[in-house]
Amino acid sequence: MELIRVSDVQKTYKTGTVALYDFNLSIKKGEFVFVIGASGSGKSTLIKMLYREEKPDKGSIIIGGINVAKLKNRKVYVLRRKLGVVFQDFKLLPKLTVYENVAFAMEVLGYDKKEIRKRVLELVGLKNKVRQYPDQLSGGEQQRVVIARAIVNKPKLLICDEPTGNLDPDTSMEIMKVLEQINAMGTTIIMATHDRDIVDKMKKRVVILDHGRLARDIEKGGYYNERA
Ligand code: ADP
Repeated sequence: MELIRVSDVQKTYKTGTVALYDFNLSIKKGEFVFVIGASGSGKSTLIKMLYREEKPDKGSIIIGGINVAKLKNRKVYVLRRKLGVVFQDFKLLPKLTVYENVAFAMEVLGYDKKEIRKRVLELVGLKNKVRQYPDQLSGGEQQRVVIARAIVNKPKLLICDEPTGNLDPDTSMEIMKVLEQINAMGTTIIMATHDRDIVDKMKKRVVILDHGRLARDIEKGGYYNERA
């Protein structure tokens, strides 16, 4: 079943830069998709349009039946509830504990402490650090908290923009294992990255952007090895 359909999308910034041309992409429910390409090829623009931080000038973006391109500002929450977002820079609240950082995101929905601890913090391997503050954690642990916060609402889609950008190779692979587990539980994952090692090791679908166009779409990638 299709979760994301990007059809004939064009995005021109106010500066006149065309970041995406005639862009088409279909992602099925449950897939794990890497988005790669040189700096400036349009990866962030594509990612931002998926969570409606940017809007296309032309074309449509349908996610789980929602026409994201046409979504009114006051309805953006309907989309955001269905997805989680993880960035390179951790953006945790420094004065809140691990537990509070995760619970804060979803407090209004009334998940109880035990559930958050068990379902989310255990999954990302942070069960024993719930009372620590972000500055008492390593970079990898902080990113786990961010992931926990992103999945606490059981999103259908997890969008990751360079989630391992600030981490060393071993820590990056640990984060990838967490993401793989989340994917195995049914969450679709789309991840923009520069990390060749990760893309090669994970053997997932790889979408390659080049100057705002979809250059290649490789099922079960290993793109860099293939070229070597
Ligand atoms: P990537 O994530 O692959 O590095 P981006 O999507 O950030 O690529 O950028 C694609 C192109 O759009 C680049 O030429 C970039 O300079 C331009 N661009 C990105 N964001 C903006 C913006 N807010 N305003 C103007 N141009 C932008």
